[in-house]
Amino acid sequence: MKIPSKIRIGGQDIVIEMPEHLPDNNLGDICVAEGKIRIAKKFSDSEQSETSITNTFIHEVVHGVLKTMGEYELNENERFVSTFASLLVDVIEEIVKVNKESCSNDKSE
Ligand SMILES: [Zn+2]
Repeated sequence: MKIPSKIRIGGQDIVIEMPEHLPDNNLGDICVAEGKIRIAKKFSDSEQSETSITNTFIHEVVHGVLKTMGEYELNENERFVSTFASLLVDVIEEIVKVNKESCSNDKSE
């Protein structure tokens, strides 16, 4: 899945950056105040896989949504955020797939 270069959460513009590495070998982070999500291309010496990048992106979006909602306690609950994000990713990927199929159908007609 392609990661957008910017999104909006609750009317706030969020830019997505993809640096080589993040501090402490984190896969991603978000700063809502700065309007920035960062997703690491690499962790340790390995490339972050495409599915992991998608998961990381949605994970950070969930953090952003919870912060925007003022749900600070839930936001600190990494188990909740990870589970919620991974369940959401499956639905998002289905939506992307269906839209890709309808795009390629449009072209052939
Ligand atoms: Zn997290």
